[in-house]
Amino acid sequence: MNTVYLDNAATTRMAPEVLEAMLPFLKEQFGNPSSFHSFGSSQMEAIEKARGQVARLLGAKCEEIFFTSGGTESDNQALRGAVKIDPARKGIVTSAVEHPAVLETAKALQEDGCTLAIAEVNRNGELDLENLRELVNQQTAIVSIMAANNETGVVMPLKEAAEVAHKAGALFHTDAVQMVGKSPIDVHALDIDILSLSAHKLHGPKGVGAIYIRKGIKLPPILTGGHQEKGVRSGTYNAPGIVGLGKAAELALTHLKDTVASEQSLRETFEKRVLASCPGSFIVADNASHRLPGTVTVIFRGIESEAVLTLLDMQGIYASSGSACSTGSKNPSHVLYAMGVDYTLANSALRFSLSRYTTEEEIDRTVELLSKVVERLRRISPYIE
Ligand code: PLP
Repeated sequence: MNTVYLDNAATTRMAPEVLEAMLPFLKEQFGNPSSFHSFGSSQMEAIEKARGQVARLLGAKCEEIFFTSGGTESDNQALRGAVKIDPARKGIVTSAVEHPAVLETAKALQEDGCTLAIAEVNRNGELDLENLRELVNQQTAIVSIMAANNETGVVMPLKEAAEVAHKAGALFHTDAVQMVGKSPIDVHALDIDILSLSAHKLHGPKGVGAIYIRKGIKLPPILTGGHQEKGVRSGTYNAPGIVGLGKAAELALTHLKDTVASEQSLRETFEKRVLASCPGSFIVADNASHRLPGTVTVIFRGIESEAVLTLLDMQGIYASSGSACSTGSKNPSHVLYAMGVDYTLANSALRFSLSRYTTEEEIDRTVELLSKVVERLRRISPYIE
């Protein structure tokens, strides 16, 4: 059975070129890059090359990139590090639609004595900048606003949010895990102090990521140990993973323009056709001013998203439920809740996320099956206007 993978916001397939680049470091070149001997230390060249590849994708300098185990760790370091810098600044301001890597970390820090303020979003899932301005003050250590939301694809006003943070003397962090490699992002143009990214969202390997820290900012580490990465992130270098991330970043940059164009066009076709062929369906955050090219959440009124997912799965089409979080919890999505979507509708939400490998045929097949599945489920649970 030919499968269709439309869950690229959850994770992506590794690009063949990435695997190729990693293989020598999984086979022959297994030495520890921090070793004195050349067998290990020669790998530093490949690690530095990867640093350059990641830096170029972000418009950053090489010395501003530090390798981590992924988005979750980078988010943790941003928040946990920032509140340690100045004892007079223990405040965290974030948004209601952040990934749990930020929200749960912020809540844990609140339990440890930090203050936490959560900015609202509007019905389109866009950050309420006025509300953000009210929440940020001279005690704020860090403002953390995601670049693009993982469920709705809504892109946040980073430059404006950074300005709010900086006016109050706070650091500005963005969780750009969903944005990097899928849409252009320039850390200096947007005035970002700290940024998190993850390799497995851009056709790289799992368990590796990076944190960008603007030159001059001394962000305390969360992992202490052997002082790798100039002491910013201790731990033996994951050379294969880092090389894979570097290659993935290089490929993402090479293909960025085409990726944006093809994902955008396929998503728009998909949305139009779904709305036309599935009565009672609508697109979440349809009126947002900026959305990622390839991520969309659709609500099929009156139908449980899990029923649709199961029937799609049986035909080899893989999407995800907008109403369940990453751990498979059945709690309705905090993102949709923050946008004012009620519980019942949130349970009817499905996310489809594309990649540069998604084809027109795959979209055709998905829409055709989706309309049949929705029609079948409608017979059991009719939608009444
Ligand atoms: N932040 C966002 C917005 C995400 O979508 C994810 C992954 O789903 C993460 C953080 C966590 O990244 P990682 O899986 O690399 O820990």
